Amino acid sequence: MAAYRVPLKDMQFVLYHQLNAPQGWQKLGLDEVDSTTADAILEEAAKLVQEAIAPLNREADEAGCKFVDGQVSSPEGFKQAYQLFCDGGWGALSGNVDYGGMGMPKSLVSTVEEMVQGGCMSFGLAPMLTSGACLAIDAHASDELKNRYLPKMYSGQWAGAMDLTEPHAGTDLGLIRTNAEPNQDGSYSISGTKIFITWGEHDMAENIVHLVLAKLPDAPEGSRGISMFLVPKFIPNAGGELGERNAVHCGSIEKKMGIKASATCVMNFDQAQGWLVGEAHKGLQAMFTMMNYERLVVGIQGVGAAEASYQNAAEYARERLQSRSIDGPKYPQKPADPILVHADVRRMLLTMRALNEAGRAFYIYVAQWLDAAKFSKNEEEKTLAENMVALLTPIAKAFLTDRAFDAAVLGQQVFGGHGFIREWGQEQHVRDIRITQIYEGTNGIQAMDLIGRKTFACKGALLLLLADEIESYIESSVTSETQRLAQNLKEALTLAQQTTTFILDAAAKDKNTLGAAAVDYLDLLGYVCYGYMWLRAAVAAGSIEDKELAQQKSLLAAFYMERLLPELDVLAKKIRSGAATMMSMQDDWF
Ligand SMILES: Cc1cc2nc3c(=O)[nH]c(=O)nc-3n(C[C@H](O)[C@H](O)[C@H](O)COP(=O)(O)OP(=O)(O)OC[C@H]3O[C@@H](n4cnc5c(N)ncnc54)[C@H](O)[C@@H]3O)c2cc1C
Repeated sequence: MAAYRVPLKDMQFVLYHQLNAPQGWQKLGLDEVDSTTADAILEEAAKLVQEAIAPLNREADEAGCKFVDGQVSSPEGFKQAYQLFCDGGWGALSGNVDYGGMGMPKSLVSTVEEMVQGGCMSFGLAPMLTSGACLAIDAHASDELKNRYLPKMYSGQWAGAMDLTEPHAGTDLGLIRTNAEPNQDGSYSISGTKIFITWGEHDMAENIVHLVLAKLPDAPEGSRGISMFLVPKFIPNAGGELGERNAVHCGSIEKKMGIKASATCVMNFDQAQGWLVGEAHKGLQAMFTMMNYERLVVGIQGVGAAEASYQNAAEYARERLQSRSIDGPKYPQKPADPILVHADVRRMLLTMRALNEAGRAFYIYVAQWLDAAKFSKNEEEKTLAENMVALLTPIAKAFLTDRAFDAAVLGQQVFGGHGFIREWGQEQHVRDIRITQIYEGTNGIQAMDLIGRKTFACKGALLLLLADEIESYIESSVTSETQRLAQNLKEALTLAQQTTTFILDAAAKDKNTLGAAAVDYLDLLGYVCYGYMWLRAAVAAGSIEDKELAQQKSLLAAFYMERLLPELDVLAKKIRSGAATMMSMQDDWF
């Protein structure tokens, strides 16, 4: 089994050449970040992941978490690795500097997130949820709550959890029953049961800060009546030290298909003391700050784990000897050729790599828009960035994870039967990545968000922003060597725009067109976005010193355009078939 190695060279290629991140940081006034600082961060993070986190992945999956008398114990080694993570200040990387954070741009921090997730997804979920909770607290909580909680959460001393789901309310959070009664002192008593709460209870941090969705007594019906509350496991005293144990307890943990080393908890709130975050009844909007962050990081999780699957598969393909190459032996001194010589095995490995590397570039690209939305002083640029983030977030969550799952299945296939058994570690990637397509809003719901709110509601205006950017990039940057790839991308963009027009017209007559087309439409835009990333990679390859790396990037770009981008034609055709057939099956025929 290959030990996970952080793909530093690929990350640096994206940051410094393909997407010119340092130029962006400078433009946003982030003077303390340049490629030297970034390299130091990347190299240190890679060391931590390779030495302390990735080695835990396999055995922690075997051992899982333990639940005894309401206490959750994390797998052996997690506490120590978490401590190292905290000691290195990694939890503070993107935090608000006013509360002890380092204020680093997301376009840099996201690569560290990929490393951690590539090393061990189950472990990575703990800091990921803490960072997301910090973002929501920073954006919506009172100064008093921020002062009390953020420094300890950035340091990792206290962890975060996100408590939305209830047994009868998953996608439709308007149905939640957890309630909040106001107390005399301005706090609230929270009662109810939440399920599937990742790291809702554990032994890695001394306190766990739950962000909980609940309804106030005067709440309007449905999703307009949801409020967000901060509910700590231990209530801090006035000095900020741990005080009384709060009435929030873990009832059990789930047995599950993947990410077995993370605890998925039932959390019972029995008049637990909590504090309102943001405005009453506006909790869902406030929670979206956390959810949008988590959605991008879930996409990053997919890329990280699919990269680990690729590395394992490529090593196996170099070593496994089976059959001779179809056009004559390539390694006649060996009893058979390594399977790497066979075109079909190359197809699988190159598909994985083309998807993974485009996924990496794409999440960094989305993170650049997030940075512009956060740091830009120019209102017009800020608005553009917010619109781009709105359009691209569902694609980043769903397309990255769907393609990561495809890649992991291919990685398993490269191993033949050995990919199905535990020994080689490939089946764990398939099991682990599977959840990324489900949690943080299923990929079907991401697709509905993209086609409904982000396309139909604005009559395709957001897509025009992306199309403008791609067209102006092609006009300004394409070289004679990349002309053919640019032509492929132009055609793809035209097809995407024509398909969008079809959807807007058809949905005006029949709303079910949206649901019927949603997933294919998200994939269609996803393939265009990855095409854009590969064009930029091919252009960047023309100007780097490392000629071998440049050649690899150019070949991968060509492979993507020849072999993967044509999926678009099928998707467009499926979308044009409309909704009539699927909606004509009567309910009682299912
Ligand atoms: C391991 C794990 C960890 C998790 N961690 C957390 C956590 O930390 N915090 C938390 O709050 N939750 C967490 N969840 C919950 C997770 O986010 C939900 O399971 C997920 O959002 C889907 O909700 P559901 O399971 O209730 O499915 P449902 O909402 O019942 O959906 C079932 C199916 O119907 C489809 N569907 C539903 N509504 C629509 C619609 N309007 N249009 C089209 N299709 C629709 C869905 O796409 C899905 O395919 C976790 C879940 C798991 C399994």
